[in-house]
Amino acid sequence: MNINDVLTGFARTGGVGVLRPGESLDDASSVLGEPEEADYFPDKKQSWPRTFRYGDIRLEVCRCRRIKVVALSTWTESVEIPTEDARAMETMAPTTTFADLKQVLALAGARWELDEFRAVTSQFAILVEPAIFTVRFTFHVPDPDAAHQKDASLHSAISKDSGHVCVSGA
Ligand SMILES: [Zn+2]
Repeated sequence: MNINDVLTGFARTGGVGVLRPGESLDDASSVLGEPEEADYFPDKKQSWPRTFRYGDIRLEVCRCRRIKVVALSTWTESVEIPTEDARAMETMAPTTTFADLKQVLALAGARWELDEFRAVTSQFAILVEPAIFTVRFTFHVPDPDAAHQKDASLHSAISKDSGHVCVSGA
């Protein structure tokens, strides 16, 4: 498995293996084992939604234990991605350019469009569509004056189930 496989899965399903928006965290943990807690501001009240992680795949989980957001940051030198057979992490280099990702999306048969609301000089994003969930790839432009968009580096892949209406109560 390499980062292109991971990003292909992300474009197709909005996630990595069983870690997808709309899936239950309990189903995922029966495959991958228990996640690590990853709340930025852990508090005693354990307010929801909460953040968990498997390696570098971060999950925002609803009170009903449904996965709402799946996020992978790709600006680091290496990332750890959970694999389903071994329940082990696979370490890989996540560096990807806009040109690379366009190729990945074309091979995956995924259509995409620029996210007009996320375009600033040093950053832009694309949305994969049509998708059941919002799947957004955000790129960082190192030098907006000099850089061509194709050289922009992938900063993160995030998918979101924004349509979830929770019935578990507050
Ligand atoms: Zn819910």
